[in-house]
Amino acid sequence: MRWLRCPYCGATNDREDRWCGRCGLQITLDIKGSLYKSLAYLLAAVIFYIPANVYPILQTSKFSNVEGSTIIGGVLELWAEGDYPVAIIIFVASVLIPLLKILALFYLLFTIWRKRCKSLKQEMWLYHLIELTGPWSLIDVFVVVLLVALIHFQSIAIIPGIGASSFALMVFFTLMASYALDERILGEICAR
Ligand SMILES: [Zn+2]
Repeated sequence: MRWLRCPYCGATNDREDRWCGRCGLQITLDIKGSLYKSLAYLLAAVIFYIPANVYPILQTSKFSNVEGSTIIGGVLELWAEGDYPVAIIIFVASVLIPLLKILALFYLLFTIWRKRCKSLKQEMWLYHLIELTGPWSLIDVFVVVLLVALIHFQSIAIIPGIGASSFALMVFFTLMASYALDERILGEICAR
């Protein structure tokens, strides 16, 4: 690829140029800056992933017994009670998706750090991952918000506290990590 699109005004520039011919802003990729910024956000997400899973976040009431439980504890309890769909949705939206996103971002950062991507197939896969962690990043927040509204009809509720705030912060920092990662860097590395 000879051409590079200006991220600010959209003008097509020669790859060798450092500055955009139309708006004059810098168009060369800041690989290191993007890498470190994304890594910092990602580490913050990992830190908050721990209290999000260790502190009680769900309140389940069994007969007149109300008790707080962790996400996993709540999922297991719901499963044991036969609430399979709710158990699966909570598990996927609040345990599986955040974890896969964090791992995928670590992998992408590792790829950038090594400055090597294995094959065209992997390149495509990476792009799909970026797509997934880009516009769809809010899907877990959305699902959880939907759940809070929905589960008031059921026997569970979200407990506001350390667990829930940590979960929200974990989702937020994962989002920031994927925004900080300039996807053109992957294109650049995979095109070599
Ligand atoms: Zn420009």
